[in-house]
Amino acid sequence: MKHFALLSTLFAGCALFGMTGTQAQAAGCMKVTLTGTQGGPPVFNGQAGAGTLVQFGDETNKCSAVNLQFDTGRGTTQQLSKLSLPVGRLNAIFLSHMHSDHTEGLADMMQLRWHFNSGGPKVDLVCSEDAKSPLGHILSCGKLATHIGDAFIQSGEMAQRLAENKKRLPGGPADLINVMNFSAKGEPVEVWSFGDVKVSAINSRHVPGHASYRVDTPAGSVVIGGDAGNDTPKPPRDTSTSAQVEKLAMGADIVVHSTIHPAMGPDKDSGFPPPIYFRQSTATDLGAMAKRTGASHLMLTHLIPPMGAARQGPYPIPGGPLTETSYTQSVTDSGYEGNVVVGTDLASVTLTK
Ligand SMILES: [Zn+2]
Repeated sequence: MKHFALLSTLFAGCALFGMTGTQAQAAGCMKVTLTGTQGGPPVFNGQAGAGTLVQFGDETNKCSAVNLQFDTGRGTTQQLSKLSLPVGRLNAIFLSHMHSDHTEGLADMMQLRWHFNSGGPKVDLVCSEDAKSPLGHILSCGKLATHIGDAFIQSGEMAQRLAENKKRLPGGPADLINVMNFSAKGEPVEVWSFGDVKVSAINSRHVPGHASYRVDTPAGSVVIGGDAGNDTPKPPRDTSTSAQVEKLAMGADIVVHSTIHPAMGPDKDSGFPPPIYFRQSTATDLGAMAKRTGASHLMLTHLIPPMGAARQGPYPIPGGPLTETSYTQSVTDSGYEGNVVVGTDLASVTLTK
């Protein structure tokens, strides 16, 4: 891990030098990979839970000098292993909101890091500060981090493993997390940076504390909308997409966004709860938004319902399972003419410059 940190520092230095030097530099690249595309808590066909990996580098390091994970749904660790990316090489983890379909892979990830990388460094966990719900409770990324290993501590496992290897940190995996809270506003704020790679965030509606992110690199930019929806909670409204995400995405090359298909709408008799339908963004409205912001690539993820599924959790899909064409058609109905990626696990887009 220390070895990687040194390499990263050297790389960042080279990248910075490249901006002012006259020598030719290796072409930079940014790779965006959907680590999990399952929408919401149900399981279907082994799909991993929501997550997006953004990598930046060049051909000498296979585009992986900087590795940023956005959301950590079920199975994220296994997905990273398919990419030959050890969790110890993640520079930072960003969470959109406190829903388990976006966070439950974090315990697995941090436990693994504690086993084999207890010497550090800590990983940055970047997320909104505590948010009070109008219903009275608090949504807290800080508490999620503090208590991430509690079940394993309470079971006695951690005491057992500490006795076997005293180099491990006594507080368990929480000791390896550096929580970086930010106050999400209606305008983008920079929340993390490393060399030429900058991450900004904006507050967006879904549940209190929900944040959407943008990564800017010398090779391109990507916005990860998360589960954002429009501030107006239900029709009548112009669109189901978020005005804040649209602001964040203006001029970005790639938009990655959670997606609900209009087939689940209240007018189609699926029985899907209207408030949950209305707090997501539809495929058609995402196409229209991507057209307005000028994105070359729209990556649909967190698909509700999954392609090929007969139901979303307990709710049947009116007209039967959806296909890739069902989603693509829904996007192109908006007039969007860019590249549409209907998300499957480990689908990726790479930009080079
Ligand atoms: Zn979700």
